Amino acid sequence: MRSISIFGATGSIGESTFDLIQRAGGPAAYRTVAVTGARNVARLAEMARELRAEVAVTADEALLPDLRAALAGSGVEAAAGAAALAEAADRPADWVMSGIVGAAGLVPGMRALRHGRTLALANKESLVTAGPLLMATAAAHGATILPVDSEHSAVFQALTGEDAGAVERVIITASGGPFRDWPLERLARATVAEAKAHPNWSMGNRISIDSASMFNKALELIETREFFGFPPEMIEVLVHPQSIVHALVGFRDGGVMAHLGPADMRHAIGFALHWPDRGHIPVERLDLARLGSLSFEAPDDRRFPALRLAREVMALRGLAGAAFNAAKEIALDHFMAGGIGFLDMAAVVEDTLERLSAEVALTSPVGTLEDVLAMDHLARTRAGELALKRKEGGRAWN
Ligand code: NDP
Repeated sequence: MRSISIFGATGSIGESTFDLIQRAGGPAAYRTVAVTGARNVARLAEMARELRAEVAVTADEALLPDLRAALAGSGVEAAAGAAALAEAADRPADWVMSGIVGAAGLVPGMRALRHGRTLALANKESLVTAGPLLMATAAAHGATILPVDSEHSAVFQALTGEDAGAVERVIITASGGPFRDWPLERLARATVAEAKAHPNWSMGNRISIDSASMFNKALELIETREFFGFPPEMIEVLVHPQSIVHALVGFRDGGVMAHLGPADMRHAIGFALHWPDRGHIPVERLDLARLGSLSFEAPDDRRFPALRLAREVMALRGLAGAAFNAAKEIALDHFMAGGIGFLDMAAVVEDTLERLSAEVALTSPVGTLEDVLAMDHLARTRAGELALKRKEGGRAWN
């Protein structure tokens, strides 16, 4: 029986993974080693009981008593804190879902790779912050990373059986989010509730807002570069409001392979779960005749500066990805708390990169995990200062 662990089990990716495992028979089909969460310990305990997990870990140490109480009599171990999360990643499991949101997903993922595990990587922040290190760690320990982001799973599937040397371009699609048609003046006043309302996908709040600002696509550009190794000029973004075509790969003979599927993350998660086989996945089947038409348009970098910033970060490489991601996470925190406006998020990230490039060498290679964590910390501090300055400047709208 295969053993699995789910990091970020209580989130949107975690719930979809749980659903697939349960539909396959739950504990009768898979042995669950660890499930992890942060604030939602009630749901974490419920999942741990249903999957008969060895251990349940909350990232929040203050919630350990609640988790213990919720697990009483279940035989599931309870643990809490960053060290416990890392320890959970050391426990032997054949397949590990990396579904934590943000840079917090990096350390558990790295730990799992060091043990040669198969890591289903939803946590794109790991590749953005420490791509070269993550890929080198996987190679050194015979581990496998399978992309779970729908676009990257699509590229992976389009490349299967192909010669990577014959690839001319890779196109990842973006829905354009809820603000695709909004004029700039209205975008400046966009609220958190409006930004969270993704037209096609049901996802966690943070990635939903990142989709509205295109920061999610910006992270995915960098993710594509780091995971597949294609140079930035070969990677394009195409706005496709229906979210049916997830990515396209163009070859030197002019042929283009596209991957299509409904907007349901269980497809990409299930693909990674069953890989290298194709298992039965309970997602809605495409009905193109009913859909009638699919549309595509070029992204507008002026309205979505995140894409331009991602190109600058890809040109810098090194520790710039860690700085970019950390600044983005802090800008998002401030937007969600009502401190800064929607368009201020990109301004805070841009100002942070500018400030940091005067202070440190952003192009320094990603040598160790400690280098990445130090840059992450510094960028969070600077971004926090710059966001507060903007707030004090009275530019908040929410
Ligand atoms: P959610 O916000 O729905 O869930 C995040 C998960 O991480 C929860 O289990 C949460 O716990 C846990 N968590 C939050 N903060 C911490 C922390 N500091 N330390 C440890 N665990 C923490 O996110 P999503 O599921 O939407 O996204 C997860 C990852 O997958 C992200 O990297 C995202 O970019 C990526 N992704 C998501 C997609 C989607 O459809 N949702 C699509 C493609 C990629 P709790 O809820 O208990 O607080």
